[in-house]
Amino acid sequence: MNCQRCFACRRGNSNCCEDLKVLGVMMDGGMTERLLLPASKLHPANKLSLEQCALVETLAIGCHAVNRGHPVAGETVLIIGAGPIGLSVSEFTRLAGARTILMDLSEQRLNFARQKMGIADTILSTGDGQELEMLRRITGGDLPQVTVDATGSNKSMGNAVNYCGFTGRLVFVGITQAEVTFPHAPVMHRRELTILASRNALPADFTRIIRLIEEGKIDTRPWITHQSNFEDLIVAFPEWIKPETGVIKAMVHVN
Ligand SMILES: [Zn+2]
Repeated sequence: MNCQRCFACRRGNSNCCEDLKVLGVMMDGGMTERLLLPASKLHPANKLSLEQCALVETLAIGCHAVNRGHPVAGETVLIIGAGPIGLSVSEFTRLAGARTILMDLSEQRLNFARQKMGIADTILSTGDGQELEMLRRITGGDLPQVTVDATGSNKSMGNAVNYCGFTGRLVFVGITQAEVTFPHAPVMHRRELTILASRNALPADFTRIIRLIEEGKIDTRPWITHQSNFEDLIVAFPEWIKPETGVIKAMVHVN
């Protein structure tokens, strides 16, 4: 919910309205029987199933992050973090024609990305410095043009500058309340990096994603790893929040 009056809204950047109230974050969200919204907030999606509709917002986060870093065909993108946000970024780097490399601490998540999302290049982050060497090897020594950090870890975000190629773009799509630090002169300045934040998404991103799903260019089936009906939700929910159960997105069928 955005004010339509502030500097950001007047410039068309309603995603970062100065008085933004995100449903389910700053105000109550959709986990309710009825939700009253202005008609201008609705996006027609008559050809989509309810499951597909439920994934549009998740995908919009990745869509906007990729728009911020704007990789073009032939460029290489490193995505750090293979959770739902990182995976949604990967859908749009693929559509941009960029080469995608995915890095994560969890072999289970990387396995999922290789097998279900078709991401061939993955790097297991072990914290021993091998990641950078592997990244150099995969990129022929150049390092990626675009790096997207989708971890929400301030440590990872500070370290991400080391993975950026010279004149590269670094997009922070995960968020942290902690300070992010990195060496300026030897890394950020020397490589003339551009650092970008990516917050929420724009209405046009929703429209685009609905069309991409309709056209079959995004397949939402791999996204839905767990399902439950409403009656079993109380039993299922504690399992869904455990990382080892491999949840990407879980769907509750109300009827
Ligand atoms: Zn505003």
